[in-house]
Amino acid sequence: MKTVGILGGGQLARMMILAGAPLGLRFRIYDPSPEACAGQLAPLVNGQFDDLAALQAFAGSVDVITFDFENVPAASVAALSALRPVFPNAGALAVAQDRLSEKRLFQALGIALPAFADIDSLATLQARVAEFGMPCILKTRRLGYDGKGQFRIRSQADIGAAWQALGAQVDAVGLILEGFVDFDCELSVVAARNAAGQFVAWPVTRNWHVDGVLSASLAPCGLPAAVQERAVAHARAVAEHLDYVGVFALELFHCDGALLVNEMAPRVHNSGHWTGDGAQTSQFANHLRAGLGLPLGDTAVLGVACMLNWLGQMPEAAPVLAQAAGFWHDYGKQPRAGRKVGHANFRTDDAPAMARALQQVGQALGREAQVAPLLDALSVA
Ligand code: AMP
Repeated sequence: MKTVGILGGGQLARMMILAGAPLGLRFRIYDPSPEACAGQLAPLVNGQFDDLAALQAFAGSVDVITFDFENVPAASVAALSALRPVFPNAGALAVAQDRLSEKRLFQALGIALPAFADIDSLATLQARVAEFGMPCILKTRRLGYDGKGQFRIRSQADIGAAWQALGAQVDAVGLILEGFVDFDCELSVVAARNAAGQFVAWPVTRNWHVDGVLSASLAPCGLPAAVQERAVAHARAVAEHLDYVGVFALELFHCDGALLVNEMAPRVHNSGHWTGDGAQTSQFANHLRAGLGLPLGDTAVLGVACMLNWLGQMPEAAPVLAQAAGFWHDYGKQPRAGRKVGHANFRTDDAPAMARALQQVGQALGREAQVAPLLDALSVA
């Protein structure tokens, strides 16, 4: 029986543990926080991600290592890789940790993306804003997530304000300026690759963000097959280039038939949570299969699937559980403003049945605004 070590003990680790049980796997979690919610399901070792001695001791207690948190320092990952197989590999992780290196990779692979520039000073920022036009977005290159570490520049006055907000971090995490994309919709490809080179992707997912944080996802996305095939081809090119093993997500903007890549996440991804109940094989199961050298499972969507994220605190469960289509996921976290505390998945045979279920749940929970974009998309599906 193999033991999988997971660096980071949040909801992603928790869902990997749930998916790993039928594979006969055991898990150990490494996280700085004694409260890490995956610790409710598997032994939790507390340690910092730069504590090499503690990480090495952890490696000694597991057979293979993966992540639910991609910002483990590269030196720690290199030290772990010398002791145990680590998936995804350290090189892939290093590229995905840095917005600039991932964008350079997309560019080298011929994948279209928004205008971007490395920013090292206020003067460079001013020059590049003049070049890109406004609006544009200043982002930290490393350690940003869920819209954190970002500043939208809409006016001349915002340039100084953006530098004020993020300029102090330029040496520590780097900064990048991006042209603003006036997208029709946001998409993601969640895909998996194993060491034998088998590559699979779930149907392209459509995503809605509120304040930079994922609010809802829907699959299939309803865009023409050719667009979806292009998106998946981009994901495949990235995975093959990085010799990637495991699940990852490629986030894209769709504008007028064109696809622009935003970023990649080197791990199971929030926009793939629907696969837990709405696909033949979940992203969590395929991530583990990939890392253990097992065949990857079928990624077909079982009809129509969607996900609603719960942020801050869990709503009432009963209206979701009362739906034949509904699946409830409570991460066992303490409520905190903006924190991802759970999600609900829904699966139906067709779009009208999904619309009915979402309408009822939206009303019962007072979440009409959250389900509205899904209802819109389903009505034209
Ligand atoms: P990110 O952390 O890069 O995934 O950004 C979070 C969210 O902010 C995205 O999902 C988009 O909704 C929005 N966003 C990020 N970058 C851009 C961009 N260049 N143009 C338009 N919207 C963006």
